[in-house]
Amino acid sequence: MSDASPLLYIGRFAPSPTGLLHFGSLIAAVGSYLQARAVGGRWLLRIEDLDPPRVMPGATDAILSTLEAFGFEWDGEVVYQSERDDAYAQALQALATRGVLYRCNCSRKDIAAQSVVGKAGLIYPGSCRQGPRGSKDEMSWRVRTDGAFIRFEDALQGAVDVDLEREIGDFTVQRADGIFAYHLALVVDDAAAGVTEVVRGYDLLASTAPQIHLQHLLGLPTPRYLHLPIAVNADGDKLSKQTHAPPLDAATRHESLAAALTFLGHPPPAEARGDLRSLWSWAHKAWDEQRIPRRATIQV
Ligand code: GLU
Repeated sequence: MSDASPLLYIGRFAPSPTGLLHFGSLIAAVGSYLQARAVGGRWLLRIEDLDPPRVMPGATDAILSTLEAFGFEWDGEVVYQSERDDAYAQALQALATRGVLYRCNCSRKDIAAQSVVGKAGLIYPGSCRQGPRGSKDEMSWRVRTDGAFIRFEDALQGAVDVDLEREIGDFTVQRADGIFAYHLALVVDDAAAGVTEVVRGYDLLASTAPQIHLQHLLGLPTPRYLHLPIAVNADGDKLSKQTHAPPLDAATRHESLAAALTFLGHPPPAEARGDLRSLWSWAHKAWDEQRIPRRATIQV
């Protein structure tokens, strides 16, 4: 298959180096990797280091070496969001030209006072649509969501319908400090890389409708989406840095990989558990999207 083939599957894993990889990240890495490899597709790696103050020093190198130690092989060069401001600025300009952006100078306090809580945080009521009140040097850019109804079929979680204005509200595409917002950067990067399927955790399902909205406004294709169940602790909280999920340890990579495969509905048989190589070669052959549990969360 040539790189230009529109039929080629292109998947990706896009960790944020705000912390080290843990079991929850491994599930997204394994799921996205096997979805790609099972059909002979490409699997790309993108480091989402968009927000410098949130980047943990050393995390990017640690993520790359952990992925390597676990036997992941990515295609092409690693993409770093910190190097892609020009592409994001161009997309912002394209949105401005379409007349769908406005400046907003609401403070966090203003927003908290005016908004109700929705599926993906506070629903901004569009207070600055007629122009920001007062003056302030630093203002964010928001994208209008009025009239946007987004429908998509998640490959695992089923049909999702979102009334964007009522459920999410006009969202930020560039923050007041100049940092481009996650939704904008992600949509630009996935399109630039020709990603055909986004495989990630269920916690990002609510991000999908705003991202599809941006794809529509920017004239970009919408990939297929598959949101994997996420690992939660006994309290129902997602494994994360905040809930003190232990970082992946290369010394126990074999057990962790077997546990991630089991979590994803593919418990490896005894004869495949000998070493990392046999686990992967079994997983490449055994992988079947239909075996992934159609659940939002699974307790580990
Ligand atoms: N960087 C995001 C995260 O680590 C993932 C984004 C995505 O996979 O779409 O949660």
